[in-house]
This record gives sequence, C-alpha cells and structure tokens, in this order.
Amino acid sequence: MSRDDNAGLYVHVPFCRTKCLYCDFYSVTSPVLLRPWLQAVRKEALFYRDKWALFDSLYLGGGTPSLLDESALHHLMDHVLRVFRFSSDAEMTMEMNPDDVTPHRMQMLRDFGFNRISLGVQSLQDEELAWLGRRHTAEQAENAIRMIRCTGFKNLGVDLIYGLPGQDRATWLRTLQRILLHKPEHLSCYMLTLEDRTPLGRMRAEGKFIQVGESDQIRLFLLTSRFLEEHGYIHYEVSNFARDAVSASRHNQKYWNHTPYLGLGPAAHSFRDGVRWWNVSSVEDYCMRIIRGEKPVEGSEILNGEQLQLEAVYLGLRTKRGFNIALLEKNTQTGTALNRLIRSGYLEVRDNRVIPTRRGYLVADRLPMEILS
Ligand code: SF4
Repeated sequence: MSRDDNAGLYVHVPFCRTKCLYCDFYSVTSPVLLRPWLQAVRKEALFYRDKWALFDSLYLGGGTPSLLDESALHHLMDHVLRVFRFSSDAEMTMEMNPDDVTPHRMQMLRDFGFNRISLGVQSLQDEELAWLGRRHTAEQAENAIRMIRCTGFKNLGVDLIYGLPGQDRATWLRTLQRILLHKPEHLSCYMLTLEDRTPLGRMRAEGKFIQVGESDQIRLFLLTSRFLEEHGYIHYEVSNFARDAVSASRHNQKYWNHTPYLGLGPAAHSFRDGVRWWNVSSVEDYCMRIIRGEKPVEGSEILNGEQLQLEAVYLGLRTKRGFNIALLEKNTQTGTALNRLIRSGYLEVRDNRVIPTRRGYLVADRLPMEILS
C-alpha cells in the first residue's frame, strides 16, 4: 500500500445556476437532484471511511460548489470532516463564482476550515464576460475579491481565460494588470478551447466568429508567461502560476505527480497504488447506484510499472518539476531526440531532471511522443 498521509480529497458538486457558453464540463442546471446528490455523496464517503489514513488537501470543485446554501454546506462538511481525517495544515479549497461571494458565506467557509478560494473570474472586461455567458460583471468580480480578502482569506487563486475572438495583446494585458492589483497568490490562465457541442462551438461552426489563430495563440501564451514571471510569479505548470512555491496548488499537484487522491461525486476520479478509477458522470446514475448500495464506479485501470513511468514523463513535461532523466531508457534514439529538443530550446536538464522551457510548455502534449517514439 502506498503512503497516503498526504492524499487529496476531491468532492464534485455537479450543479450550476446557468451554463456558460464555452463550458464542456458535466454539470446540470436543475436543482431538483441537489438533495439526492447530497445524500448520495455522504453515503459514498462511508465506502471509504477508515481506508485512507490522512488527507492534507480538500478541494470542493464543480460545477459551482458555491451555489450550495448554508444548510447543504453544513450537511456536507459536517459529514466529510467527521468521516475523514485531515492534517492540521491541510489546504482546503472551495471553487467559487463571484456572484456567490457574500461576507456571510465567506465567514461560514472560514468556520469550516477553508483557507483557499479558487475564484472563476475569467475576464475583467464586461463585453468578454457577456460573450462567455458569465453571470457576473468585472466590477462584481473585483468586489468579490475584496470581500474574500476582507474575510481574512490569504490564499486566493483566480481563473482567467484568454484567446477570445477580437482580444488582442492590449485587452488581455489590461485584464492581467488589473487582476495583479489584487495580488492573487495563484493564477490559472487557460487558452479558450471550444468543443463543437458547446453553444460557442456551434456558433463557430456556423461562422459567427473566427477563433484566434495558432500563431496569435502562441504569442498570447508567451506574453502571459513572460508578463507574469516578470511580476514575480512562478510558471509552474502549463496554465498555472504561483506567487511563490508554497502558493502552488497543493491539491492539483497531486494529479501531476501520482500522489494518491480520492474523488467523491459524479465523474470524480481517484488514484491510489497504481490504480485509477472514476465514477459515472450522470447525477441520476450516480444517485441510483448509491441507493442500490453500490459504489458508483464506472471504470478503472491498473497501471503497471512501465505505464506509471510513461505517465511520470508525460505529466512531468507539463510542470516545472519535469521528470527524472533516469526514467528514460538509455538508447541512442532517446538520447538523440532529447538532445535535439534541448538544442531547439524546448527542454533543459537540471539536477538530473528533464524540464520543459517556456517554449516547451507550448508543445507539452507533443514532447513525450517526440522523446519516446
Ligand atoms: S460555472 Fe463553471 S462549471 Fe458551471 S457552466 Fe460555468 S464554467 Fe461550466
């Protein structure tokens, strides 16, 4: 059994008030199943009681966890904190939408021990927010940040989206400069990607707008990385920046370095001892399985030693930590590929670790194949 006194617990809240026009995550807008989901998640937690030693991170994600009202949150958190053990310094994150932030709610979160907020701001330009189908304005987002700070939260992560049609260097920089005034400890900057089945994906297919081309995407990515590093942030994962090493998301790093994590709720994933498993996505199926007394697991995979090593290479190339060079088979082809990528400025080797450069992050998905093929 792996050491799991630093495991992460994720709880998926699959409800949103409305659907953002770019969103491809599974979530439902009807609150009808909220109470059944809550009962089900509490029962699911019991399946794992006493099976996990200690968690040092909790992440309430979604969906929109911040739409849970006071009674639902009490119901959930009382149970989670009773069933599982957390270290005294556990990182406890709640994902929030700006329109849910109120002084009362923030105080309640602090009382439950939450010490980190991940806020979905996405943009500080009202026309961009409207285009994305967000429910809040830039002013509401900034007021939410002030409220979060006033309630004493010292660890704030902000999510932003860039690469919107019509967005140029100047408009994106305006959002970045504005957000930096609030000194967030963490920033996630995601390039807009649209699946065909989303409303914006359909509009693109109908020719209602043209998505930013690849060369502009590259320019915006490099600009973001340079700008934030110049302002003291560490670009520690392709889309993630931290003000210092301790501000990097403890929970999310577990997904990239094979630390065990347990996921509760529809579509949640878990990993431990080389086994990955995931729950059914549909809230109805999830609740029905639990009512029948079954675990809501839809599938699983067992990774052997070789597969784990491959994943360590693949995941490592998305982070500043990289991977241990000893994971590579010593043969001429691998050595040649590695040297070529180092000479081209995509990789560097430091302290026996292969680490992607800023340009390497740009092609992080392709690098493993180039090295290993
Ligand atoms: S709030 Fe988040 S999960 Fe919900 S629809 Fe918008 S982007 Fe998707």
